[in-house]
Amino acid sequence: MIAKDSKRAPSPFEEVNQRLEEAREISGVPKEAMELLENPYREIRVEIPIYSHGHLSVYTGYRIQHNAARGPYKGGIRYHPHVDLDEVRALASLMTWKTALVNIPFGGAKGGVACDPHAMSEEELFELTNTFFTRIAMILGPNRDVPAPDMGTNAKVMGWAMAAYGRINGHTPAIVTGKPLELGGSVGREDATGKGVVIVTEQWAKASALSLEGTRVVIQGFGNVGSFAALNFAQKGARVIAVNDVKGGVKNDKGLNIPNLMEHVKATGSVVGFEGSDPLEGDEILYQECEFLVPAALGGVITGENASKIKAQVIVEAANHPVTPDGEDILVKNGVVMIPDLIANAGGVTVSYFEWAQNIQQFAWKEARIDDELHAILGKAFAQVLDYAKKYQCTYRQASFAIALDRVYRASKARGYIRV
Ligand code: NAD
Repeated sequence: MIAKDSKRAPSPFEEVNQRLEEAREISGVPKEAMELLENPYREIRVEIPIYSHGHLSVYTGYRIQHNAARGPYKGGIRYHPHVDLDEVRALASLMTWKTALVNIPFGGAKGGVACDPHAMSEEELFELTNTFFTRIAMILGPNRDVPAPDMGTNAKVMGWAMAAYGRINGHTPAIVTGKPLELGGSVGREDATGKGVVIVTEQWAKASALSLEGTRVVIQGFGNVGSFAALNFAQKGARVIAVNDVKGGVKNDKGLNIPNLMEHVKATGSVVGFEGSDPLEGDEILYQECEFLVPAALGGVITGENASKIKAQVIVEAANHPVTPDGEDILVKNGVVMIPDLIANAGGVTVSYFEWAQNIQQFAWKEARIDDELHAILGKAFAQVLDYAKKYQCTYRQASFAIALDRVYRASKARGYIRV
């Protein structure tokens, strides 16, 4: 069991367990089962030595396998300076509940390396990826643990990762998802998470007899998830009025031209300085008046300290764990609707599942099939969340965790790991 220090503020992993405890009370999963369900199955930490310009730098990497009762471990690899053991544990646990909620045959895992990929050359990133994956290869496998991209990694990194694993085990496309198309990646994977954010938001709007047309959307983070969420919101007729990234933000009350902004980011590396926009500084992005606020960067950005300043009507959690439990208490009291990460950003892992299935079948699906299946899986899962929340008079987050917890509990019981 991972010990808890009650004198300090809860860590991200403890916050996820707080949410599981609420879900346990609603779902009726026995208390005795929780130690097994909350804690990771296996944690691995590796040192990654890289030589650059004759100097040795040693990075630390993690892979945490949280739960595989329902299928192989599944979860992204993050390259970011703030990566640490506790956060990776929290993210690994979230993956267990996300895959269970959308009912795809995977468990949960996460990995990461504490590094700043933007300050590294392509050669250094290749070395880092190659050594990291070589050192964790023994716990991976298409039926064991299947990584994917996350913050700071992308299709190119997954291609290198597949090659590193392949040098030891032979050609194995199903070892990672989010790969380049040339290596067996899937059409529709790159934009899947951002598209899923909008599928779920539109479903919420329809269930509330509303439309996305003309609504104001604000997005924190304009990377893979944030940019494709923005594009999909714009395609639905919503006005994306403000976005930012690590370098700064931009605003235009009439709505930013998202395809042009994506081109600007490609050319300059940031949203800053986009023609026809006003600049936004620091955290101002979070406090804009809007219908939908979409955090799509880091975790823990809305907390007990700043939640009362939020002016959005709905928060759609495209990032993982962007709102802390004490922040959420204030938002719920203020009537802000929360569409939780477990469902809001599950589009990525869902299309990762399609990619894995295509690799195993050695048969490529057409884009229309990917799109239909994505809508079907997210639509069914979110409809279950909406019904559960109504039936048990709870938040969407509590409903999401409760449905997922019950599924993982039942799978663990069926395997004989849990007898209560
Ligand atoms: P990414 O690296 O492509 O983009 C991250 C973006 O956030 C960049 O624009 C970066 O500049 C910005 N950013 C970083 N720090 C910031 C800060 N302090 N303030 C404002 N912006 C900041 O990462 P991504 O893949 O888009 O992932 C974003 C979030 O979505 C993460 O929380 C990740 O766990 C989650 N997520 C990603 C996927 C996926 O398929 N990529 C799936 C599910 C969830």
